[in-house]
Amino acid sequence: MKQNEDKIYDLAVLGCGSVGSAVGYYASRKGASILEIDSYQPPHDFGTHHGQTRIIRHAYGEGDKYVPLLLEAQSLWEELQDQTEEKFLHQVGIVNIAPQESDFYKNILSSAEKYRLPIDILTAVELNERFHTWNFDDDYKAIYEKNAGYLRTDIIIKEYLEKAKEYGATQAFNQQVSQIINEPDYIRIITDNAEYKARKLVVSAGSWVKSLYPDLPIQPVRKTFHWFEAEYENLLETKGFPCFTVNLKSNETYYGFPGSDNLIKIGRHDGGQDISNYQEQYEYDDDKDAKEVENLLGTYLIGTGKLDFGKTCSYDMSPDEDFIIDWLDDRTQIVTGLSGHGFKFVSVLGHILANRALGKEETNLDLSPFALDRFTKITEKVKD
Ligand SMILES: Cc1cc2nc3c(=O)[nH]c(=O)nc-3n(C[C@H](O)[C@H](O)[C@H](O)COP(=O)(O)OP(=O)(O)OC[C@H]3O[C@@H](n4cnc5c(N)ncnc54)[C@H](O)[C@@H]3O)c2cc1C
Repeated sequence: MKQNEDKIYDLAVLGCGSVGSAVGYYASRKGASILEIDSYQPPHDFGTHHGQTRIIRHAYGEGDKYVPLLLEAQSLWEELQDQTEEKFLHQVGIVNIAPQESDFYKNILSSAEKYRLPIDILTAVELNERFHTWNFDDDYKAIYEKNAGYLRTDIIIKEYLEKAKEYGATQAFNQQVSQIINEPDYIRIITDNAEYKARKLVVSAGSWVKSLYPDLPIQPVRKTFHWFEAEYENLLETKGFPCFTVNLKSNETYYGFPGSDNLIKIGRHDGGQDISNYQEQYEYDDDKDAKEVENLLGTYLIGTGKLDFGKTCSYDMSPDEDFIIDWLDDRTQIVTGLSGHGFKFVSVLGHILANRALGKEETNLDLSPFALDRFTKITEKVKD
């Protein structure tokens, strides 16, 4: 028998992993009545946010339309860090290595120039001398951004959810939403064991949003990351090794984090396997999956040892790899298609979506590049 609540919440947040937990935090902080729903108890291993860490950088290879959001995100991360006991914001810097004629390199440079972000440009020789761990020839250059670094996802999501609860949010976890119905005066949200009512809704369901909105142009992709022994101590955070991205001329794209506990985490951004649900994400395979980063470790990055362990995760890819953030109607907002680069924006997206849902101050930050109607043929179907 389903539990059927009479209460009408000001706002329901469907999916409380990365963005959803931030929306719930900022909305409940404003004193609104908030319902947070998730299929699991976040943080968990079944979405897009696990694997401990995510890179944050501001000079942005994906385009300078992201930079104002990133700068606001950074100041919200700092504000949250000041109120949080455990350290989640590690400003260890980042080195972005790419051929200078690549779009990624040119975009980083132009966004740094436009927004006056502090960067150092290094030749391959200077890069190899400065960090002693790289082996690139003159065809490559590196852009070092000292204010970049990484975020600890598990600490952040726990913190957002605990604080939202303290502000009075109701948490309905371990229940999956199967249906959303627009009634004349409210939205009815049906899960496997309950029904809820809310005036506004934010859908932040990550890779699995298509079970609710099958026409959205989202492709979930299975991804892996790998923890290798750091044999060379210059790879460690304590020795000043930064985060990195590497774009090879072959278009292979890698990223990584400074080593801690003698392990260095490395991933590959391009590639992966298209999937349609969590079950297809299947377990990490030591022999097969680690091969994805073989070329980087064998040729360009010096000093890693044996594979210690790996994990699988998923990207929610949009067709152009830009975010989808929009109103579906005057009650429901959707955020998805973060395409493997969304975590660093979670603070600012949570803040904006919460304010918009509650009719509070509108933002000066421009979300128009992320509107669904850029995929004109699809928009009407999704919004119907
Ligand atoms: C391998 C990997 C590396 C990455 N590296 C970076 C990086 O370095 N920097 C960066 O900025 N970003 C990175 N990202 C991307 C970033 O992690 C994601 O963009 C971000 O976590 C997505 O957040 P989300 O809120 O959309 O999804 P999630 O955090 O997955 O949250 C979605 C939530 O919705 C819930 N849900 C789904 N369907 C339902 C339903 N029907 N009912 C109830 N609940 C539901 C899920 O259980 C989940 O908790 C990486 C991602 C991966 C996979």
